[in-house]
Amino acid sequence: MQNHKKWYDAHLAGFRQDAQIKSFKQYEALYRRSLDTPEIFWAEQAHNYLDWDKKWDFVFRQDVDEARFQWFGGGKLNASFNCLDRHLLHGSKGDKIAYFWEGENPAETKTVTYGELYNDVNRLALWLKAEGAQKGDCVVIYMPMVVEQAVAMLACARIGAIHCVVFTGFSAKPLTNCIQDCQAKIIITADQGYRNGKVVPIKKHVDDALLSCPDVRSVLVLQRGRKETPLIRGRDTWWHQGMERFSANQSVDPEPMDAEDPLFVFYYSGFSDYPKGLVHTHGGYLLYSAMTTRLVFDLKDDDIFWCTTDIGRIAGHSYTVYGSLLNGATGVLYEGGPAYPDYDRYWQMVEKYRVTKFYTTPTLVRLLARQGDDFVHAHDLSSLKLLGSGCEAIGYEAWKWYYDVVGGGKCPIVDTYWQTETGGHVLTPLPGVAPLKPGSCGLPFFGIDPVILDDTGEQTKFPDQEGVLCIRKPWPGMARTVYGDHERYVYPYFSRALDMYFTGDAARQDEDGYYWIMGRVDDVINITGFGLNAEELEAVLYGHPKISEAAVVKFPHPVKGIGIYAFVTLHRRLDKSDALRGELIRKVRTDIGPIAEIDVIQWADALPKTRSGKLLRTVLDKIAANRVDDLGDTSVIADPVVIKGLIEERKKIQGI
Ligand code: AMP
Repeated sequence: MQNHKKWYDAHLAGFRQDAQIKSFKQYEALYRRSLDTPEIFWAEQAHNYLDWDKKWDFVFRQDVDEARFQWFGGGKLNASFNCLDRHLLHGSKGDKIAYFWEGENPAETKTVTYGELYNDVNRLALWLKAEGAQKGDCVVIYMPMVVEQAVAMLACARIGAIHCVVFTGFSAKPLTNCIQDCQAKIIITADQGYRNGKVVPIKKHVDDALLSCPDVRSVLVLQRGRKETPLIRGRDTWWHQGMERFSANQSVDPEPMDAEDPLFVFYYSGFSDYPKGLVHTHGGYLLYSAMTTRLVFDLKDDDIFWCTTDIGRIAGHSYTVYGSLLNGATGVLYEGGPAYPDYDRYWQMVEKYRVTKFYTTPTLVRLLARQGDDFVHAHDLSSLKLLGSGCEAIGYEAWKWYYDVVGGGKCPIVDTYWQTETGGHVLTPLPGVAPLKPGSCGLPFFGIDPVILDDTGEQTKFPDQEGVLCIRKPWPGMARTVYGDHERYVYPYFSRALDMYFTGDAARQDEDGYYWIMGRVDDVINITGFGLNAEELEAVLYGHPKISEAAVVKFPHPVKGIGIYAFVTLHRRLDKSDALRGELIRKVRTDIGPIAEIDVIQWADALPKTRSGKLLRTVLDKIAANRVDDLGDTSVIADPVVIKGLIEERKKIQGI
C-alpha cells in the first residue's frame, strides 16, 4: 500500500505569502461553506469569475431519477466573450500575450496577443457563418497543437456552434465515428503536423474518414507543410484563403448562450464502435475550469502557464484553452514531442519562456526522469514556482524526482485527480494550503463531496479502507449527458448508488484525510491519461481473420505507468509468429490511432473462463503483471490447465 508518511512542506513558507488561499484554515472555511450553502457559494463564484449577458433565474436544479442537472438556469453568456472580449473591454489586455507558440522545429515560433486572437476568432466565426454553421451545429476540429486550434474552438463558441475536437492521436476510423455521431457538416483541420521528428498525415486521415461521411460539405485546412496537399474542389479551402475573405476589423456579435447549452462534445471512448461524446456546457463548465485553473495553479496575472497536454485531450480543453484564457493568462503551446530533438526540449522551453507554472502528465515525468538529471541541470529553471501532475497516478519515485530535480525542492506539486466527466480537478492539493504527500491527490476541491463506498454500498471505514470513489453533490463542471444517448450517461455514472456520481476509481483516505487513488475498477485502460476501453481494443483484434479470441488487460509499465497487454488465441496454433504480433499491433494502431499501442501480445491456447463462459479478467490482470503466485481463487475456472499454459507462456516474455 502506498503511504508515504513524510510530509513535504519546504516550499510552503515561501509560497504562502502570495498565495490566493494561504492557509488550511482559510481552505477549510471556504470548503465548508461550499458544501453547507452551495447555492450561495456557487452564485458568488459565477458572479466573480464570469461575465453574464443575463443573470441566472436559479443556481441549481436536479432530477435525480433521470440524472439531469442544471446550473445557472436561465442565465446567458458566451464562452468566446468571456475568454476574449471582456479582457479587451475592461482589462486593457489587447497587447497581452495569450500564447507563446513553438513548433516542433524550434525555429518556428510566434506570439499571439489577446487582440490578435480576438481578430482571428472573429474572422473564423464569419467564415463558419458564411459556410452555413448555425447555433447548435457540431463542428469537428482535428488539428495539431497550433494556436489556430484554440481559435477554431472559440470561433465555434462565438456563434453557438458545438465544437467536437478529435485528438490527432486517433486515426481515420475513430474520426469517422465521431463525425457521424455528431453529424458534423464542417471540419477544421490541417494538412499535417509534426511529432517526434515525424510528419503526422492529418489531412490524409480526414480524407479517409470522409469517404464514409458524405454529409460533410466543407473542410478548412490550415497549411503547416511546405508541399501542397491536394484539396478536393468544392469541399476543401485553405485556412488562409478562407480568412482572406474577411478583414481584421470585421466582427461577429457573440451569441448569447443559455448556461446549459452545450459548449462542446468530447469524444472519450467508443472509438472503434459506438463513440461516446460527453457534453460540457457553457455556464457550469466555464466556471469550473476558470476557478480550478486560478486556485489550483494559484494563477496570477504575470504567470506564464504551460499545460503540456494536447488540446485534443480534456486537460487541453480545460487548462490550455478555457482555464488559461478565461483568467486572461499567458500560456505556452508546443506542437511537438518531449524528446525532440533531445530530452531537454521541455526544460529548454521552460527556460526560454520563463515558465512559472508547469503542468504535465506522470508519463512524461517518468520518461524524462529516466534520461538522468543532466538534461534538467543544463537549463535555468529558476522561473518555476509550481509544478502540476495529472491524468494518471504519479507514484513516489517520479514525484520525488519532479519535486527535487525539476522544482529544486521549492515548488509545490499539485497532483490533480479528475476525469473527462468531471470537467476539472476534483481532488487536488491547493498549493498554499497544506504539506504534500507524494502520490496523494490531497483534499477535495470546493463543492466536491467525496465518499468511498465498499461493495455493498456502505461507506468504508476511516482511515485507509479502500473502496470505490463517488461524489455526493453535483458540481457545475460535471458533464451533463452523452451526446444523443442519455442512457449511456445514466448507467455508468449514476446507477450504482442513489444520488451519487460514480467515478470508476478505487480510492482510500488516510488518517489525515488525504485521498489516494488506487486505479480503475472497470475495464478502462488509462494510457498516458487517455481512457481506452478493453472491449474496443479486443473488437479490433477480433477483426483479424486469424484471431479466434482476444482479451486485453492493463499491466504496470515502467514509463507509461499502465501498458496494454493482449492475450490472443489463434485459429491455427502454427501461425504464432513475431510477424503476426507486429501485424496485430499495427492493425490496432491503424484502426484506433497511435495512442492505442499494444505493448505485449501473449499467445494463449485458451483463455480462463468460468463454467458459464465468463472471462476471468482478474486472473489475466495478474498474469500480465507477473503476479502469478497470487492468482486468488482459481477454483471457478472451467479448465484449470489453461492457467498453467498461460503462466508458462508468460515466463517466455522478457523484460517486463
Ligand atoms: P480521463 O477522463 O481520460 O482524463 O481519465 C480519467 C482517469 O484517469 C481517472 O478515472 C483516473 O483513473 C485517472 N486519473 C486522473 N488523474 C489522476 C491522478 N491524479 N492520480 C491517479 N489517477 C488519475
